[in-house]
Amino acid sequence: MSKSSSQHTPMIQQYLAIKADHPDRLVFYRMGDFYELFFEDAVKAARLLDITLTARGQSAGSPIPMAGIPHHSAEGYLAKLVKLGESVAICEQVGPVPDKGPVERKVVRVLTPGTLTEDALLEANQENLLCACYQLDDRYALAYLDVASGRFEGCEFDEQASFEDELKRLQPAECIVADQHQLETLLSEQPGLVSLPGWHFDSQSAYRKMTEQLQTQDLIAFGCDDKPALVSAAGALLYYAQTMLQNQLKQVQSFHTYSTQDSLILDAISRRNLELDSNLNGGTHNTLLSLLDQCSSAMGSRLLKRWLLLPLRDQAKINQRLNSVETLIKQDQVDALKAEFKPIGDLERILSRVALFSARPRDLLQLGRALNQLPSLQNKLAALDDAGLKQLSQRIAEFPDLADTLNRAIVDNPPMLMRDGGVFKPGYDAELDELNNLKNEAGQFLMDLEQTERERSGISTLKVGYNRVHGYYIEVSKLQSAQVPLDYVRRQTLKGAERYIIPQLKAFEDKVLSAGDKALAREKQLYDELLHTINRSFKALQTSAQALAELDVITNFAQKAQQLNLTRPQLTQAPGLVVIQGRHLTVEALTDTPFIPNDSVFDDQRRLQVITGPNMGGKSTFMRQTALIAILAHIGCYVPAESAQIGLIDRIFTRIGASDDLTSGRSTFMVEMTETAHILHHATEHSLILMDEIGRGTSTFDGLALAWAIAEHMAKNVRGYCLFATHYFELTGLTEQFKNTVNIHLNAIEHHDKIVFLHQVQEGAASKSYGLQVASLAGVPKSVITRAKEILQDLETQSSTHSSHNTTDKPTTRPGGSKTRITEPKIEAEIQYDLFNSSASHPILTKLDDITLDEITPKQALDLLYELKKLR
Ligand code: ADP
Repeated sequence: MSKSSSQHTPMIQQYLAIKADHPDRLVFYRMGDFYELFFEDAVKAARLLDITLTARGQSAGSPIPMAGIPHHSAEGYLAKLVKLGESVAICEQVGPVPDKGPVERKVVRVLTPGTLTEDALLEANQENLLCACYQLDDRYALAYLDVASGRFEGCEFDEQASFEDELKRLQPAECIVADQHQLETLLSEQPGLVSLPGWHFDSQSAYRKMTEQLQTQDLIAFGCDDKPALVSAAGALLYYAQTMLQNQLKQVQSFHTYSTQDSLILDAISRRNLELDSNLNGGTHNTLLSLLDQCSSAMGSRLLKRWLLLPLRDQAKINQRLNSVETLIKQDQVDALKAEFKPIGDLERILSRVALFSARPRDLLQLGRALNQLPSLQNKLAALDDAGLKQLSQRIAEFPDLADTLNRAIVDNPPMLMRDGGVFKPGYDAELDELNNLKNEAGQFLMDLEQTERERSGISTLKVGYNRVHGYYIEVSKLQSAQVPLDYVRRQTLKGAERYIIPQLKAFEDKVLSAGDKALAREKQLYDELLHTINRSFKALQTSAQALAELDVITNFAQKAQQLNLTRPQLTQAPGLVVIQGRHLTVEALTDTPFIPNDSVFDDQRRLQVITGPNMGGKSTFMRQTALIAILAHIGCYVPAESAQIGLIDRIFTRIGASDDLTSGRSTFMVEMTETAHILHHATEHSLILMDEIGRGTSTFDGLALAWAIAEHMAKNVRGYCLFATHYFELTGLTEQFKNTVNIHLNAIEHHDKIVFLHQVQEGAASKSYGLQVASLAGVPKSVITRAKEILQDLETQSSTHSSHNTTDKPTTRPGGSKTRITEPKIEAEIQYDLFNSSASHPILTKLDDITLDEITPKQALDLLYELKKLR
């Protein structure tokens, strides 16, 4: 391609000029019935799509690599490329065939991962977002657009971490940033990152772009007039989307500025730990969403996912949803409403394609069916006495004229594509009917003609036929060809037959073929008019679709409440959380044995709850279920519990499980501590915090010291609602220091050397850790377990000569004053080290006067250690 363009053929020169505008995209260059790719694009496409790489002639002295795909099957290939993260410029022939040189061609659409609207390229239940990020001084802005529904939103942050969290929540398919901007580096790992020249984000043009799109003087009504970083991001995003789609994006009618402060914040880690929409393996099975989503429409499913990942904090709004759910259940309308929803379909996406003029005949058929359904749906809603449902009903308009037009227009089983024709019903348009009649009458005419010609020629085997290349013909076998009348003109010679044309048949052919073309052109015109007609009601249709999606989710909540035995949570202004007999929905769905419900009670006396108990005892399940119940309540859904009273919660934090962050090369312990640091910095007294096995990633002593200090910080400074599961029994002593701390444990019993988990949460600390029994359950070889028992026994005998302590003992039941030797060598070593380094006048030494180091309880040792640390 380095050769000067004059060395290329005119067609390749045209191609290269187009390609120059799309250097990073694959250019699909339309030639007749094919899209062709050339040069590097051809090589790449052949590899990615597994298609044949060929060469086309010579240009500038060397063969041009070429790969092609038939245009009618392009969609499948495009879907594959887009899934692989590629962008494709579709270049069509737009002009008539000229006498000289190539046909005029133009890029009519650029498919990028974030600007898809075609059904075949999108996942029905998954939003596909295009996002723009911008930083201005210390403000981070993020705007996003779901092109397929027209939802356009954004928010600003003064903290980088919150901005990154929100980006992780949204998981955009494509993300644009200004090049050479510091964000470009920050987001370098972001999938689908596109760097654009900085002028795309120019504040004045962005402001203008936004006001043009939203058809307003200013942006006050959209809450972003005083947020220049956000306006820059939103404006740049609009410009990019319009350029890619070559369309004004009529579906984008509004912009919503939101604040994550209005919602119960769930960071990316917590969403993953709680398996809200994806499980720990990254799949979508056995998640809260998969269990909860039985929405009737894909637009409902997408909305439910949005609600779940961004729960509300506004209790009035939550109560409105809960009231509606309750009304549907109490008035026994769940099934009836579900039935109404069946024909509605994915109106949201259909409407976007209508706005883009890319809606297909089946979209319009579906739209018609949905509109037909609205009066009866409204009837059902009218009978329900509930403010929230009434509001939804008011937002859903009825469109009798449009429904009637669509009913009269579209045939029951339309073709996939408009260009195939046959979309409109007879009776819809007189002109089209006349043209179609001509085509239909052709059959009779041809039969009549065949009959007359047989009689005229005396050839009884004479046939009239048609083929795409030669058109209509009269066929006579070779043997009888000598008998044909004089006006027969030969059209084609086959092996055993001759084909002829006669003036009458030629005239007929001209009429019919042109009628076919004319009918198709007429259909195209009618289809465009129909799209214009629908677009005239676009805003009302879009509002109705949004309200229908909400109604779908509310109805789904009501259905799930009945199916899964859920109760209405009570939201309270007072702080605290009291869940009686709560359950974990996904664990419950997965276990064969009955799920054991448990209570979660938080109040000012129970802010930090230290959970002990054997592995597999149900600690994580209990912690997670508490958070999941809080989340469900905040999205307006009933909860799996006998009763639930839930006060204000601002954020949910989780530090669960240990996983190496391989991509960033951070160790398990580093990940654990980074997440813990994040919690300690951000949690408030209104936060719900789950901490599982803090300190596990490092040596016992470091781990214990850290766990202790972190738990203490929770109880003393953060004072949030914290469930703190731990193996360090020493932590159960915290209750003696802090009034707001309690111990709870998961119980188990031993039966004939076997362990039985009871999965019941009980007050107080656990009495045993059952480590060996759990290891045995997990399949650790018997010989190893037996050996471990011996070692344990040895350890216990050794320690009982000095003391009876091991980490499985229950410190709270230990007689406080008994002088026992500690068995934890590291604690001992650390105390000795501390004492050694302390000056002789160290105040702690006076405390030691009546304790010899060899004879202190572990609790005393830790207390001492703690005091030493403070003094250091
Ligand atoms: P831990 O965190 O204490 O190791 P988990 O919470 O992971 O234990 O629970 C282990 C298993 O026990 C779960 O996978 C589930 O099958 C079962 N389980 C946990 N809690 C309950 C419960 N309340 N009722 C019934 N089964 C439970």
